[in-house]
Amino acid sequence: MTKVYYNGDINEAVLSNKTVAIIGYGSQGHAHALNLRESGVNVVVGLRPGKSFDQATADGFDVKTVREASAAADIIMILLPDEYQTAVYKAEIEPELQEGNALAFAHGFNVHFNQITPPANVDVFLAAPKGPGHLVRRTYEQGAGVPALFAIYQDYTGQAKDIALAYAKGVGAGRAGILETSFREETETDLFGEQAVLCGGTAELVKAGFETLVEAGYQPEIAYFECLHELKLIVDLMYEGGLEGMRYSISDTAQWGDYVSGPRVITAETKARMKDVLTDIQTGKFAKGWLQENQLNRPEFTAITRRESEHQLEVVGKELRALMPFIKQNKKAEGVKN
Ligand code: NAD
Ligand code: MG
Ligand code: MG
Ligand code: MG
Ligand code: MG
Ligand code: MG
Repeated sequence: MTKVYYNGDINEAVLSNKTVAIIGYGSQGHAHALNLRESGVNVVVGLRPGKSFDQATADGFDVKTVREASAAADIIMILLPDEYQTAVYKAEIEPELQEGNALAFAHGFNVHFNQITPPANVDVFLAAPKGPGHLVRRTYEQGAGVPALFAIYQDYTGQAKDIALAYAKGVGAGRAGILETSFREETETDLFGEQAVLCGGTAELVKAGFETLVEAGYQPEIAYFECLHELKLIVDLMYEGGLEGMRYSISDTAQWGDYVSGPRVITAETKARMKDVLTDIQTGKFAKGWLQENQLNRPEFTAITRRESEHQLEVVGKELRALMPFIKQNKKAEGVKN
């Protein structure tokens, strides 16, 4: 089995006389900044004026411009949206990089796809919690953590690995486990996971199931509960016990249906399409398309987002969730983003 690092394996003293700049205070940024501070690390936050700036200030941070924060720090963690990182890096971070500083990321996208090319005289590492930022924060407060990956792209000081591990420990990941990867592996597997399975694959599976029931004349409310709401309950069982744990808890009828019908829905053809998705990620085709879409001000992204919000599943879901106040609102409703 690959080496997994826990708190006891990691010496956080390498951060003791250093300042960490957290650039961005969104989903990941607020979690890294708050967790590191509570772990005893000296943190400054770099932002432009706006909602995040006000939130970080309200949370008691020393909030500076991105350029000032970069100048003040030894370790600069870039937690801006991937599509804006390159422009901000070139204008406000790169000019303030000093020899022996460390440049850090939570996703390898811009370094791996050659959008950001760090100078040779700094360390470059990745510390990527494998979960949404709001969970990174919540689990830390509960005394637990979200597992994380780390990778070293450039080790100028000879200390890059110790710093990356200490950083991940400060964020709380050493309570759950920290694994080593490369920028390439993290970038490609993260993109594949979210596209084929976690976000893209699941969203289409849920919609197709919902539409099949509604088109057959069943009530949309019933279809919503069967195809979306219950998904969380099933995924919780998988998270705790794998597929076997999930199958232990469901009825034998459900388990038999899983065996006979699952492979009729997700077929060899689906897997071939997944390989196409992976190929587009590996060749840079996906990255190029997404960067171009941003250069054009996101015409398709905007149109698809609007169309998706009008789907009957979303309309009926909003009504049903309003009647279930025990369901915790997501981060958008909490207003943490931007
Ligand atoms: P986000 O959209 O939640 O937050 C981005 C932050 O950057 C906000 O505070 C915003 O105000 C600020 N910002 C945007 N443009 C700016 C600019 N021009 N100048 C200064 N500040 C600016 O982003 P996120 O989802 O936390 O993603 C950050 C990084 O973490 C990305 O590399 C992403 O791939 C990675 N990541 C995210 C998650 C997640 O849970 N969302 C999980 C793992 C890795
Ligand atoms: Mg988003
Ligand atoms: Mg991911
Ligand atoms: Mg991702
Ligand atoms: Mg059922
Ligand atoms: Mg069973």
